[in-house]
Amino acid sequence: MLNLDEILSQKLQEIKQKNRYRTRLILNENIVNFSSNDYLSLKDNPITKQKLIHNIDKLSLGSGASVLVSGYHLIQKELEKFISKFKQTEDCIVVGSGYMANIGLIQAISDEEDIIFSDELNHASIIDGIRISKAKKVIYKHCDVEDLEEKLKKYHTKGKKIIITDGVFSMEGDIAPLDKIIEISKKYDAVVIVDDAHATGIIGEEGRGSLNYFNLIPDSNIIQMGTLSKAVGSYGAFICGSRILIDYLVNTMRSVIFTTGLSPVQNFISLENFKILAKEDFRRKEVLEKSKYLANSLKNKGIDVRFFGTPIISLIVGKEENAIKLRDRLLEKGFFVQAIRPPTVPEGTSRLRITINYNHSYEDIERLCEAIDELMRLLQKSRLSF
Ligand SMILES: *Cc1c(COP(=O)(O)O)cnc(C)c1O
Repeated sequence: MLNLDEILSQKLQEIKQKNRYRTRLILNENIVNFSSNDYLSLKDNPITKQKLIHNIDKLSLGSGASVLVSGYHLIQKELEKFISKFKQTEDCIVVGSGYMANIGLIQAISDEEDIIFSDELNHASIIDGIRISKAKKVIYKHCDVEDLEEKLKKYHTKGKKIIITDGVFSMEGDIAPLDKIIEISKKYDAVVIVDDAHATGIIGEEGRGSLNYFNLIPDSNIIQMGTLSKAVGSYGAFICGSRILIDYLVNTMRSVIFTTGLSPVQNFISLENFKILAKEDFRRKEVLEKSKYLANSLKNKGIDVRFFGTPIISLIVGKEENAIKLRDRLLEKGFFVQAIRPPTVPEGTSRLRITINYNHSYEDIERLCEAIDELMRLLQKSRLSF
């Protein structure tokens, strides 16, 4: 007889044996969190909270339906207008989440004749989006424009060529060479999709994202997506591009059509936080300063971290087990830094992914640095026990 629990517990056992078992935890308030994507510390912003209280009577708690039925509300329209102005594009659509944006967008704009060229370290939502689409997938080496060009040259199609890349890579923190990617895309007549989940609010003038960072001008062959859940400190995502693109997505994107619209309350939060993000550029600058400070402090202690001028700093330790040990021991010292393991990152590259937020004090950062230094010495002497 089928026993689902038996099958699943065996699979769980395998996950545990590989040290890849995960649980959801609720962080205690006195733990300093170095694993949040709330880079600008907007998720608890008191001004937005006050405005929300003030406006709550005017806002529906739920949207009530798909945006194509009756779930489209004025606040979402305002949010879309704000974002398209910020991104200097003709139009914008706000959707449920970054995951839904990527799976829906890729499927909507591609078909079986198309070839999608995807960076090997792209986010899982992009990978899933390509899987759902019927397009052919070609993976190019991480940020390697020569490899990308070779592949664009090699693969021919009657359909479209589409290049997809993270703007700032979620687990590495490095910035895609979008200037070169766009240049190549013009040469080979390809569309470019850039996922600015971690670039929004972080790079480019006033945090306008990776296209702006490279002084590139949006055009109808470039699609920019981004999330409202990271630096914006809310929930949801956006896709920016030409008016025709957005019109087309409204008509064909399954993760827009067959899902309920975001709550007007959530969209209100996104809009208010986004306005703060755009206006208070000092937050972004300070986060980048603090990130540089941590990276340099760690490097000065001989700790080999990867830092690319974004708030994502990774300390690669290789084995899952070591990443977990470091995480657990840091937690005992009052810091939370999540151990990122496969399948989120490639085999053998388990790491501590440290993210800096605006609210971190230099003192917190210094203490973290010292704690990591102490633990790394123990780890090297193999004296770090579970
Ligand atoms: C977080 C993330 C997403 C998914 O966004 P959600 O709003 O959390 O669903 C998509 N792409 C990248 C690169 C991300 O880092």
